[in-house]
Amino acid sequence: MTDAAATLIGDTSAATGQTMRALTLVADRKIELLDVAAPPAPAAGEVQIRIKAIGLNHIDVWGWRGMAFAKRKLPLIVGVEAAGEIVAVGADVTSSKVGDRVVAYGALTCGTCKACREGRDNLCENVGGIMGFHVDGFARDLINMPARLVVPIPSNVSYRDAACAPVAFGTVQHMLFDNARLEPGETILVQAGGSGIGTTAIKMAKAIGCTVITTVGDDAKAEKAKALGADHVINYRTERFEGVVRKLTGKKGVDVAFEHVGPDTFNGSLLCLKRGGRLVTCGSTSGQSISFNLFQLYLQQYRIFGSFGCSIRNIGESLAKMAAGLLPVIDTEVALADFERGLARLESRQVFGKIIVNF
Ligand SMILES: [Zn+2]
Repeated sequence: MTDAAATLIGDTSAATGQTMRALTLVADRKIELLDVAAPPAPAAGEVQIRIKAIGLNHIDVWGWRGMAFAKRKLPLIVGVEAAGEIVAVGADVTSSKVGDRVVAYGALTCGTCKACREGRDNLCENVGGIMGFHVDGFARDLINMPARLVVPIPSNVSYRDAACAPVAFGTVQHMLFDNARLEPGETILVQAGGSGIGTTAIKMAKAIGCTVITTVGDDAKAEKAKALGADHVINYRTERFEGVVRKLTGKKGVDVAFEHVGPDTFNGSLLCLKRGGRLVTCGSTSGQSISFNLFQLYLQQYRIFGSFGCSIRNIGESLAKMAAGLLPVIDTEVALADFERGLARLESRQVFGKIIVNF
């Protein structure tokens, strides 16, 4: 484990006497903008990044509400995905230089276990935690990171858009292409198509020539989802999506279901699959547990993939897609002091796309 932990609040090893701003979770549902010690000069193998933009994700909402089962200590600096500029590099760093624009991988992987060596970073056997959730995150002016965990931003991609690469884009890239192995010409059901990852999934699937069916919770979002390229949009509040999908696919079902809603939709998503179809899920915003029919699982030969995070390679692939014009859908940009307002908006499900916090 490396030393992003060296910038924990109150760490006096900073020795610079400098302070910086940090959005800090001090109690459940209470985030404060505090002055904390700035990090020391980066150690060997580290870079120091000045944060420019943070992307909000549902994991921020979970963390903000309080997670009884998550091992962590408050106060905690929030922010799970970010983009910034390198302002200093430690000894032995040759992969980055001052002035480079970068995003950082947000889990403290070991870099040496079998999974890390094989580039399956999100399966690291010794992971030191998810930044902004288990350990201090990115919502601060300066952070020291291992150089091996940063990925350069292409010159034509803004900090705002790049901030969506490590979690939103990376997660979807990993779900669709590493796990579900989505192929051109296939049909996909994208649940909650107005969310940050839903909008990303629609765009990535359309970009390779898939037919996209998506669900949304109101008619205004339905129009926006169509504008993104979704072929069919179902308002799940007024129509039973399982029936509509069966009809749209001539009773065959879809090749892939993209899930992150959980109990409210999971069994319906399974029902939408064709025989041998794949369901990939990275979330359960509507709860934790369901029961489902095992006969259906094996007789229909479904494949179900749990997916969490992504590899560092997926972040590079995501940034390359952005550079080629596949940009994130931005719902709102808020200032640092309005971070909680952004979280409340995310929690209310009013969003269409991503919420970005600018430094
Ligand atoms: Zn590892």
